[in-house]
Amino acid sequence: MKPIVIVGAGIAGMQAASHLNAQGIPFILLEQSEQVGGRVRSDYADGFIFDHGFQVLQSNYPSVKRSFDLHALNLHAFDSGAKLWYQGQWASFLNPLRAGFKFLELVPHIISFKDLFLLTRLWIKLQWSANEQTNSHESTAAMLNRWGFSDTFQSKFIRPFFRGILLDQNLQQPASLFFFYMRQFLEGQAALPANGMGEISNQLLTSLPMDSVRLGTEIVQLGDDFVELKSGEKIEFERLILAVDPRAAAKLLHVELPHSVHLGAKTFYFSVPIRKEQDKLLHLIPGESQLLHYCFLSQVAPTYAPAGKVLLQVTSLNLALDEKEVLEMLAAYEDVTGFTFLRAYEIPRSLAKVGSFEALKLAAQTNRIILAGDYCEMPSLHGALVSGQKAAVQSLI
Ligand SMILES: Cc1cc2nc3c(=O)[nH]c(=O)nc-3n(C[C@H](O)[C@H](O)[C@H](O)COP(=O)(O)OP(=O)(O)OC[C@H]3O[C@@H](n4cnc5c(N)ncnc54)[C@H](O)[C@@H]3O)c2cc1C
Repeated sequence: MKPIVIVGAGIAGMQAASHLNAQGIPFILLEQSEQVGGRVRSDYADGFIFDHGFQVLQSNYPSVKRSFDLHALNLHAFDSGAKLWYQGQWASFLNPLRAGFKFLELVPHIISFKDLFLLTRLWIKLQWSANEQTNSHESTAAMLNRWGFSDTFQSKFIRPFFRGILLDQNLQQPASLFFFYMRQFLEGQAALPANGMGEISNQLLTSLPMDSVRLGTEIVQLGDDFVELKSGEKIEFERLILAVDPRAAAKLLHVELPHSVHLGAKTFYFSVPIRKEQDKLLHLIPGESQLLHYCFLSQVAPTYAPAGKVLLQVTSLNLALDEKEVLEMLAAYEDVTGFTFLRAYEIPRSLAKVGSFEALKLAAQTNRIILAGDYCEMPSLHGALVSGQKAAVQSLI
């Protein structure tokens, strides 16, 4: 019997493989890179852990709980909330569902009484539906205007926070994503595995039989019942799951995508001196700054830096920024004396824009190819896991 071939060993491809493996179905997982994980990888150097772009694991996604051994990941959680910049200093906005009434200190300076009312209304709504189906094409920006949160609360918390999650300067991604992530923020916990985000990829890989995984294997062409590797070798399949990013899928399926379908980000890592005010909260940079946010990763997970040092990450949507410019901008918020640049990760295809892939989905359907990847569901680890699982189920029909 010919195997099911899965192209792409990111989270979606490995999740599909893991599901097939659990059912004893033969598969081959082909990955162009020498490492698995796609966008979820970590590098290790001089005692530091560098994730390929700052990201976190939301440990209460049902898909995450189902797919990973969270205990073995040894998760270290951020404090639930964020640091907001107000009148020249940082104020802590702690999640009311976790830290009680501490957030009331920000009323009415940052959070107005109307915001309090709207937050309560929002939370009640989220109890009924995780993805409030507003007008389905409504953008997050339009929805925020409609709800009417105060300008201060929007500019200090909501907009910078969601720019950081959606990697979208103008918040044009659908409002349904806002509602999904708002619920995660209120009820969930953002965490880092002790060994870096790449550990979640390693965990998926170790559950698979190694003779079914081929790394350094780029697929350059798709036939009716075979894939062709860069080496010229052909591998026949029973069904094909294409779990690559949408740009790569479009190239293989000869589909023209709109010019801009991805949102990019660049994460800078600095080694910084230990200071007592460093905490476990994400610092949100307000306004139209080119910096999105920063945090002291090793205060959250001490394994991210060697003893006596602190690892700082700073993320920007401007891929052209360099570390000197970042330090100059950061100096408005931190004393940057002793900050040493370590490295930066520039990831132009960080997240896919929702709603750009109808032609791709149609071409795949016509060719009986099953697509998987976060962009098939929603741009997140949760979306990648769900799409991988669905693709595996579909491949057995
Ligand atoms: C900077 C950044 C921050 C993020 N923050 C978060 C966060 O905080 N929370 C969250 O939930 N999500 C976050 N995400 C999103 C999350 O990482 C992705 O949704 C998820 O990793 C996507 O997995 P995937 O398997 O769909 O795609 P990918 O990871 O892109 O995997 C596709 C794989 O296909 C391979 N491939 C491509 N072409 C070929 C070919 N021709 N032949 C063989 N192999 C091929 C690639 O090498 C890759 O390994 C973030 C992403 C980035 C980059």
